[in-house]
Amino acid sequence: MNAKLVFSLIIITTFFSCGKTQENHINSNKNKTEKMDKITQTEEQWKKQLTPEEYHILREKGTEKPGTGKLLHNKEKGIYVCAGCGNDLFTDEMKFDSHCGWPSFDREIKGDKITKQVDTSHGMIRTEIVCSNCGGHLGHLFDDGITETGQRYCVNSLSLDFIPEVNNEENQSEEIVLGGGCFWCLEAVFLELKGVEDAESGYAGGVIKNPTYKQVSSGVTGHAEVVKVKYNPKQITLREILEVFFTMHDPTTLNKQGADVGTQYRSVVFYTNEKQKKEAENIIEELEENNVFENKIVTEVVPLSNYSKAEDYHQDYYSQNKEQGYCRMVISPKLEKLKKVFTKKLKDLE
Ligand SMILES: [Zn+2]
Repeated sequence: MNAKLVFSLIIITTFFSCGKTQENHINSNKNKTEKMDKITQTEEQWKKQLTPEEYHILREKGTEKPGTGKLLHNKEKGIYVCAGCGNDLFTDEMKFDSHCGWPSFDREIKGDKITKQVDTSHGMIRTEIVCSNCGGHLGHLFDDGITETGQRYCVNSLSLDFIPEVNNEENQSEEIVLGGGCFWCLEAVFLELKGVEDAESGYAGGVIKNPTYKQVSSGVTGHAEVVKVKYNPKQITLREILEVFFTMHDPTTLNKQGADVGTQYRSVVFYTNEKQKKEAENIIEELEENNVFENKIVTEVVPLSNYSKAEDYHQDYYSQNKEQGYCRMVISPKLEKLKKVFTKKLKDLE
């Protein structure tokens, strides 16, 4: 059956509440635009989160010894993010060999992710660059670059984390990270599908690394509850994964699924390569053109950042807790619906 037709047939009418604990809903109704607001952590909190070396560079404006940084000679494809908060700052295409002893970039990822300020320390006038999100010191910006931009962002390796691009052509399996409300539900749904090797509940897209469930539930870290779906593209395509995703949650309610309200329940596709980005954007465009949903789709399509696996008790929640009220009320109906709509895509019964 044609995908458009499938979508036209299944307009989702009922959404249930995730209903985990009251705590989920307190203070969690943050506006989406607020989520990249500056992080305000105490120095004590930073000390806990960072290594002493990272703390010295990022929070005390230190400088690592030239020629020593872990990323100085890195030539892999991928994204360079702030080591303090995961803010994406540079890509491999912006890196060049300046022979100055520190990783150098000739431009930055658009979006005012880096703030420039005057630095008069050490008897010099220089342009200091800091992360706009957490205020972490990155390095300095000079206008002696040897590429066509003429710029040299001279950055400490310790101020950066590197996220390598997943080379899906080499690996047989591919992965995509999706947020659509409660992760227990999505995980259970994807595990039913033929070709899905694993579905892992986690958190992504927030401003700190490795948050706890409690932090995510409070809404202040900006993370979404997500599921990392690992699948074999020879058995199920990315397109099919996304069709299931858009069928099993409501992509039209901003920061909300049923009664669950908060940015952690936002509808979001976290991509790790251009192919995933395009596929997600195309499918959203098709759904809009065909007026499959009554309201506008609000699903975000953004690069993956700060992913971490959720606590063990969130993994395989449905299979471990089938008799629990929430599972019977919320997840089971979703699985029933999945069985009706995607019969041929389901794993064979054992
Ligand atoms: Zn930062």
